[in-house]
Amino acid sequence: MVSTIVNPTTPSPLNWSYTPEELRKLTDKLIEDGKQFDKQIEEIPDDECSFETVIAPLGRKTENESEVIEANIDFFQHVSPNKDLRDASAECSLKLQEFGIERSMNKKIYQKVAKVVENIKSGKFKAPENPEDQRLLEKMELDYRRSGLALPDDKLAELKELKKKLTNISIEFSRSIAEDKTTRVFTKKELDGLSEDFFENLEKTTKDGEEAYVVDMKYPSYFPILKLAKSEETRKAMMLAYGQRCKPNLDRLKEALSLRIKMANILGYPSHSHFKLETKMAKNPKNVLDFLQSLKEKLQPLGKEEIKKLLELKKQEKEELNQPYDGILHDWDLRYYNRMLIEKEYAVKDDEIKQYLPINEVTEEMLGIYEKIFSIKCVEIKNPVVWHPDVRQLEIYDKKTNDYMGTVYLDLHPREGKYTHAACFGLASGYDKEDGSHAYPVAAMVANFSKPTATKPSLLKHSEVTTYYHELGHVFHQICSHTKWSRFHGTNVERDFVEAPSQMLENWCWEEEVLEILSHHYQDKSKKLPKDLIQSLIKTKNVNAAIFNLRQIFYGTIDMKLHTMEKVDNDLDLIKVYDDLRKEVMMIENMPDTWPITTFDHIMSGYDSGYYGYLWSEVFSADMYFSKFKPIGILNPEVGEKYRNIILKNGGSRDAMELLKEFLGREPNNEAFLKSLGI
Ligand SMILES: [Zn+2]
Repeated sequence: MVSTIVNPTTPSPLNWSYTPEELRKLTDKLIEDGKQFDKQIEEIPDDECSFETVIAPLGRKTENESEVIEANIDFFQHVSPNKDLRDASAECSLKLQEFGIERSMNKKIYQKVAKVVENIKSGKFKAPENPEDQRLLEKMELDYRRSGLALPDDKLAELKELKKKLTNISIEFSRSIAEDKTTRVFTKKELDGLSEDFFENLEKTTKDGEEAYVVDMKYPSYFPILKLAKSEETRKAMMLAYGQRCKPNLDRLKEALSLRIKMANILGYPSHSHFKLETKMAKNPKNVLDFLQSLKEKLQPLGKEEIKKLLELKKQEKEELNQPYDGILHDWDLRYYNRMLIEKEYAVKDDEIKQYLPINEVTEEMLGIYEKIFSIKCVEIKNPVVWHPDVRQLEIYDKKTNDYMGTVYLDLHPREGKYTHAACFGLASGYDKEDGSHAYPVAAMVANFSKPTATKPSLLKHSEVTTYYHELGHVFHQICSHTKWSRFHGTNVERDFVEAPSQMLENWCWEEEVLEILSHHYQDKSKKLPKDLIQSLIKTKNVNAAIFNLRQIFYGTIDMKLHTMEKVDNDLDLIKVYDDLRKEVMMIENMPDTWPITTFDHIMSGYDSGYYGYLWSEVFSADMYFSKFKPIGILNPEVGEKYRNIILKNGGSRDAMELLKEFLGREPNNEAFLKSLGI
């Protein structure tokens, strides 16, 4: 049970009462102070450059202290109910970002950092004794080097030029997808199978004198049609239109691939993947390719079984409809028969389950579970001073020592101008202050669960409960972390590990024991989800899991294949590369005459040589869950505490692989993940 107190015991380092004018002033001051500070560092004589004179002040001023203020300024644009504040916040945030980029390319500062390394090497100064200090030095130096600051001026200029070109191409690539206006017209009959509310927002027209609808290619149109349209011709036509968009992106992608190789070469790496993976848990392309290959081999036999099962459904349906059966599971069949299978075999209805998951009870129980597993205590502030009346504020304490650990905000319902997804915002990272005391973290969970109505509380779908649990996982990663430098706090871990703690916690939402704790019928709180409903729900977790994981493996592999290339041939046929690999990995052919790679935005913006990360972290999260928690008890506080002290507490202050090995007591592997899928 979450207890309440009237006032916070520890003042939050964040301020929610700023005016737009104050935000602008604060931003200007931050930039002015930053410039002053940089000048001081630039003026340090080379023979005085040491960890204490250069690195520690940089860590303190440019990371520890300023990041909290920057996050405070930035957060208003996502959550403030006041438009002027949101606008000011966006404007200031952009200014700060630009200043940040300028700073990261400051060669004079880099030279001082490089001097520190040199002076330690020559024995002039001692290397820092604290391993986290040593890590700070190494990571800082590496960041500058990866930005090209160690290069001679002409090479650096060339790198900057290539970077600019690449940025423009990826903007064009994304814009082409965003601005695509492809539509198809279907008659009402052709859309048979779709529910009435699907038609509500569609533009009406006529086709061959019949009532018809204009359908665009956005997810809310595309996925329902592929899942529900009874007519195979309709699904086929939809997929064809979807897969033929943005053809000019083929050349853009080719150009981007070749620019990335050139940039990697200038920096001294054989391929873009080598460059990208250097700072990831995976470390190098071979590790990623081996990982994907091993999963593929083990999943394909099950994938074949799943395809067979879907084909049986198809055959049966075709016979009933008196239509020819071709014995092939086409791309446009997959989501349709998958949906049919779930409905037929598991009879799970979202709406029924929802009645048992009112948001306040779920929140209370969920926090209770976190309290138990992680040995913490959540205390709610009664009348918090926050940015909107919907927002709740909690203080988190260590259950044994009663020590304050951090502050959490929950902002769960939609409103105008608010961020539209669910996410955790790490507003303040913890760090050791110069006076020896510790600055504690603050994190906000922002989501858009439906608001209560006059007659019903906000009711959550099971998938929303999972999202809630996942995002709270990030929140508690922030809160349970304790590091010396903010750069390593909480979720500041390798990009291919950051999802693992949250993915692991999602497993709780698929356990009978937990679903029973979480559920309370909104009309009668003593009523729990019926056992048979829980059991069928749990069974749906792994329906066609092999096929869907093989799809992820395919995306990860094509991304790696393109980014490990050491040169781009003129006659590189991206469509063929895509189609061949797709057939080989997924065993379901890509639809002929389509080129979905032109809308695969991930590999253009941010997930280049990084798509594998989704599966990578999931496989290791399964290893932690099924090898450690599940055998001893998923609510066992001893395992939970060990997990908290090894994985969460250390954040990014040590390599994720090292932490994982310490927690597991061995090298991680994919066995638990495969076993959870029944392999
Ligand atoms: Zn996440």
